[in-house]
Amino acid sequence: MWLNKTSMTDRLYYHDPFLYEFEAEVRDQNNTPRPALILDRTAFYPTSGGQVHDTGWILAADQKFRVTEVADAEDGRIVHYLEAPLKDLKPGARIRGQIDPARRRDHMQQHSGQHVLSAAFVRLFNMPTVSFHMGDDYCSIDLDTPNLSRDQIESAERLANEIILENRPVDIRFVTRDEAGKLGLRKIPPTECDELRLIDIHDFDLTACGGTHVRQTGQIGCILLRKAEKVRQGWRVEFVAGQRAVATARRDYTVLTEGAALFSAHIYDIPQQIRKALDEIRSLRKQWEQSLEDLADAQAAALLAETPESNGRRIVVRTFSDREMGFLKLLAQKLTRLSPNVVALLATKSPQPSLVFAQSPGQPFDMSALLKKVMATLGGRGGGSKDMAQGGAPTTDGVESALESVSATLCA
Ligand SMILES: [Zn+2]
Repeated sequence: MWLNKTSMTDRLYYHDPFLYEFEAEVRDQNNTPRPALILDRTAFYPTSGGQVHDTGWILAADQKFRVTEVADAEDGRIVHYLEAPLKDLKPGARIRGQIDPARRRDHMQQHSGQHVLSAAFVRLFNMPTVSFHMGDDYCSIDLDTPNLSRDQIESAERLANEIILENRPVDIRFVTRDEAGKLGLRKIPPTECDELRLIDIHDFDLTACGGTHVRQTGQIGCILLRKAEKVRQGWRVEFVAGQRAVATARRDYTVLTEGAALFSAHIYDIPQQIRKALDEIRSLRKQWEQSLEDLADAQAAALLAETPESNGRRIVVRTFSDREMGFLKLLAQKLTRLSPNVVALLATKSPQPSLVFAQSPGQPFDMSALLKKVMATLGGRGGGSKDMAQGGAPTTDGVESALESVSATLCA
């Protein structure tokens, strides 16, 4: 429970996003449900406007607390969530805040990159950005457009990187809502607040935003567009900026290199190599299926030839050590079509212990019922129709003797 519901937190990052260390006074603290702290002023950025929060440390006397999350409270105060419970940090105590500079720099690169990219899509194709998301690996913007081509993506990427290379100043300005209305902003947020904070990328983009941004576009480093996909209200474009772009390119290259090594090929030949391999697989699969047909034909004929007729029926019983269930079914089909008086009781021990029972059309038994009965003793499951049934057993134990006992029942 918060005790002191007083004034809003002074947001130091509004004026200087490069302020990584600051001093402040504790306004309020509590330990339930999570250890949390409110200060009179802070440089910590709370999750808002698509940008995720900072992390860092709070130093007080001889204590050091890790700040794991920062959030906006509804009353305009900023809550710092801490890893460990607070002791002896009463309102009025002086603390020192330290922001994780690498994380902040990364967020500034991504967020500033987003402004440049969103403006590039407006300038080139009049495609407004309707939302921005910052994730751990990549960021994305949603564009309000029914179509987006690969050429358009590449053009926007090129323009965004030109603006970055030109190292344009990025200024922070505060104006009233009325003034903002006359400035032709790219985006005005729907807030009640009368004062707006503007981010001004010199002669390129002017928009209202509360986030942290670089001072010069050159500090963004670069921007790399990646996946683009159709979403409900337009197109989502994923991107990475600055060090993230380099890290992403590095990861891509590592994966490509690994893939190329598998083919002993150059990375740029991977698609061609994959196409070739897929063609080969397709052709081999066709040959394999044809071979199985031929094998099943030959085996069915041989099995029938070696199975004597008894009571006007041929009961073929065979357990294979290494056949797919698909082959058993194929063989059962061939057997029961070759002759009108066949019952086939087939099994395989591996890769998966399986059974297939089948009879020629017109034979009087119920294969499904027979199989279910056998499965009940083997502890497996299966089913099918009157003329053909299949099932899987948990082990090979008892499979062969089960076939023999079914055969004996049928002969009786
Ligand atoms: Zn922004």
